[in-house]
Amino acid sequence: MSIDWLQIIGDHHCNQRCFGCFAQSEDGPSLTTDTILRAMQDGFTDGAYGFWLSGGEPMVRKDFFHILDGARGLGFERVRVQTNGMWLADEGVARRFQAAGVTDVTLALRAPNATLNDKMNGVPGSFEKLEQATQNLSALGLNVEGEIIVYRQNVEHLEEIMRHFHGLGIQRFTLSVLSVAEMSSEKAESVGKNIPRMSIIGETIDKIIKANISEDAHFIQAPHLPPCVVKPEHYWVLTRGASMRMRIVEPDGKVRRYDQLPLHGGGFLTWCDECSSKPICDGIRGDYVRAHGFSEFNVVKGPETRVIPLRK
Ligand code: SF4
Repeated sequence: MSIDWLQIIGDHHCNQRCFGCFAQSEDGPSLTTDTILRAMQDGFTDGAYGFWLSGGEPMVRKDFFHILDGARGLGFERVRVQTNGMWLADEGVARRFQAAGVTDVTLALRAPNATLNDKMNGVPGSFEKLEQATQNLSALGLNVEGEIIVYRQNVEHLEEIMRHFHGLGIQRFTLSVLSVAEMSSEKAESVGKNIPRMSIIGETIDKIIKANISEDAHFIQAPHLPPCVVKPEHYWVLTRGASMRMRIVEPDGKVRRYDQLPLHGGGFLTWCDECSSKPICDGIRGDYVRAHGFSEFNVVKGPETRVIPLRK
């Protein structure tokens, strides 16, 4: 099947210990260099113009720069690395990163200040490094985006986080709602209490857009929200999973499309057939419904919306 993006999740090893993340130990499966290079060849052959390396923290892999060399050698137009930025606070490492052909960076953001950030990822001094990394990468002209995993603990700080990192050079932010969809039942039970309400995220997005932080057409993306928790005039923040045309290779070798991940979408409710926004909805995640029920999801009335509109 033809794809636009190939994402490789090499493993879940990491130099941070962020709350709610899979990367809580150095155990667990890890793709070999050969497997990654073969998957890259297959992805490129199947039409991918973009290569995306994530984890865990991909920069702790010993073969990190070797993988980037492979991506450049194959000729991917875009090479994105998703990272916590710890090592990119060093200007020399940031330059080497750019020289290796990276075009896009997604930095993991959690908080607007050191106190909350360092508490959430368990690494004192990491916020300062993240700020420095943001400035280094922006100064090098890379396309730097921020991914904010939204928890109960940081949902009230979203505007502050975006303002702060927008000031350091980040243009676009993805809001990813904390998911426990593929965690052990024991972990899902404890971490699941921190899943924020999607309706609150929708209200917060409304406030942030009205605050006019940025006029960028893709300033905020919220790929896990169904339309019914977002004001119709802000539908441009939504993402259909299938539109990503992304293949994901996971640490155990499993291969899935982005829209097959349980964290992106899920099932529909009995009343969803009456909803005018169903054509642009990927449904509601099972782990979310188990945490909060489905009382927030109400049919959208009015003319049918078939395509996610662009920002006006
Ligand atoms: S189809 Fe259902 S979940 Fe999707 S927007 Fe409509 S009411 Fe919400």
